[in-house]
Amino acid sequence: MLYNQSLVNLHTHSFYCKHGTGTIAEFVSRAKEDGLKVLGFSEHCPLPDREYQKGNRMDYPDLPFYEADVRAQMNDPDIRVLLGAECDWLPDEESFYRDGLLGERGYDYLCCSIHHMVDPSDGREKFIQYINDMPVGHMLEYVRLYTDALRSGLFLFGCHPDLFLAGYRHWDADARAASRDIIQCAKACDIPLEINDNGLRKKIVETENGPRHPYPVREFWEMARDEGLKIVTNSDAHRPKDVAAHLTNSFAFASQAGIRFASWDIDESGITCVQA
Ligand SMILES: [Zn+2]
Ligand SMILES: [Zn+2]
Repeated sequence: MLYNQSLVNLHTHSFYCKHGTGTIAEFVSRAKEDGLKVLGFSEHCPLPDREYQKGNRMDYPDLPFYEADVRAQMNDPDIRVLLGAECDWLPDEESFYRDGLLGERGYDYLCCSIHHMVDPSDGREKFIQYINDMPVGHMLEYVRLYTDALRSGLFLFGCHPDLFLAGYRHWDADARAASRDIIQCAKACDIPLEINDNGLRKKIVETENGPRHPYPVREFWEMARDEGLKIVTNSDAHRPKDVAAHLTNSFAFASQAGIRFASWDIDESGITCVQA
């Protein structure tokens, strides 16, 4: 069955990640109130063998509880609930994502992100938006990691691909080349990229070309549109009231950029993206 973007949110976090609020059941009931027909949970994925972003992520022992909570909502006749995870691309975790989450644990989908890099000014790992004046070398490393994630073939879509522009606030030849590399890789792998509504809900940042949202960045998405990429949108909700926020903000952003969203096709064999 085909679902257009106005019926779907596949990027949802909850109290499980420790920087979100709301139970799985609360998200489902709010999603139904807001008219969604498909709700995918994509909790930041914990790792069995390392404490990645401890305190700001689900603990690994909580994973079975998260999975059971999501599965308990799957028989609702009014909404289709999917079990997913947002995975930071850490190459040595590839087999956990593939054989653990998608294999043994039976996840419906995974989506990929690069959230953190080391700030050269103090050597600390930070959310990319807080790396002031990101060096070009960092941007290239981001592109390398992000495109490796896309090429792994594990992910249904790429989350906030333009997050690096929250740290690198120029739209110069380097930024254009980095953007083109990500977009062309996604196109070649036939993986949709996401206009992330959470960025539109964050505070405006200053750039040499004036104020803008930290992400999504209009120039990136105009390039994606021109390359004929499949483009989707998600709320990236961290509290129930935001579960369908993308239907206003991101839809307006996309329409200003002349973007037509792709749709999701869901049946017994799984979920795929189609340019309808
Ligand atoms: Zn989060
Ligand atoms: Zn994210």
